Amino acid sequence: MYSQSSIYSRCASRSAPTEEMLWGLSCVVCGTDYRSAPTADAQVVSRGAEGPTLACRGVCARLASGSATGLDETPLPLTERVRRYEARARKHAGQAQGDQRGSAA
Ligand SMILES: [Zn+2]
Repeated sequence: MYSQSSIYSRCASRSAPTEEMLWGLSCVVCGTDYRSAPTADAQVVSRGAEGPTLACRGVCARLASGSATGLDETPLPLTERVRRYEARARKHAGQAQGDQRGSAA
């Protein structure tokens, strides 16, 4: 019995959100890093396994959630999101090198 799930996850991983997206540190649509763009207006667009995911207010939020302002939910402050992300990253230190960049131009 062969499971389709491995094939599935391999395909899905191509467009899978990054760690930063899962933790609300970057836009799930355009990838803007909110840590380096503190003025970006991030809106909660979905609830991921790790917590709410965010997208920029406007086009990105609408693409991600269907509404230009996302869900009716206030995101955590950026500093808090960074703190959580880094606390978790420390816990998983050593396994964080899964980013395979096959062909560097
Ligand atoms: Zn965006």
